[in-house]
Amino acid sequence: MVQYTNPEIARKRLADVILPKSGISDLKVLGAFRKIPRHLFVEEALQLRAYEDKALPIGHGQTISQPSTIGMILQTLDLTGKERVLEIGSGSGYQSALLACLAENVFTIERIPALAKQAWNRLSSLGISNVAIRTGDGTYGWPDQSPYDAILVSAGSPGIPDHLIQQLRVGGRMMIPVGGAKTQRLIKIVKRPSGIERSELDLCQFVKLIGKFGWEKKQTNVQKETHELD
Ligand code: SAH
Repeated sequence: MVQYTNPEIARKRLADVILPKSGISDLKVLGAFRKIPRHLFVEEALQLRAYEDKALPIGHGQTISQPSTIGMILQTLDLTGKERVLEIGSGSGYQSALLACLAENVFTIERIPALAKQAWNRLSSLGISNVAIRTGDGTYGWPDQSPYDAILVSAGSPGIPDHLIQQLRVGGRMMIPVGGAKTQRLIKIVKRPSGIERSELDLCQFVKLIGKFGWEKKQTNVQKETHELD
């Protein structure tokens, strides 16, 4: 375990050493990691571990995603700074903050109200003003604000929700982990005038996308699920 006492130095090491080793070379993406203080997106007891390349618990059985996985997704999206982006699964708000550095407008949906509120407070306290957040089932998307140039789903889904494809602009791209409850394959979708182009990227491990067009939430599984995800 790499521990640090100075978050500034640890953050710089994440962007300058750890992420490039995992194949992240896009300077804009690395710049966003250098700028956003990940330790402020986890609870105090975990702050010393915030700049390890690890997913960490954020409560409610959810996790803040692993930096190299987020980095790979952001690098693949290849944002220019002008995009309108939809994110499903705000979680801690960390990835939303990175997206705020790389796109013009970010719309993010979180199903757990307490996480959405906490993410909002963190983003506001950092002075980030181009992110709109709402609580709800993101498998329906956020139609009022569509179409989007990019959609990023940060929870694992059994399939690709149709609503999300509908809300993607022609020429737009979507990244979504698709597969089982524990392991998924990252899928990149590009919406072309002629249809959908789909490519398969790395294996990954995200928490479940729970909703109408994701995994079903069964009341009896709540306890078990929380355990598994911890
Ligand atoms: N990128 C986030 C990762 C959060 S984990 C971060 O870095 O912190 C995935 C999040 O997706 C969890 O907070 C979970 O509650 C949320 N989620 C799961 N299903 C959802 C759905 N249908 N709509 C919106 N959010 C969902």
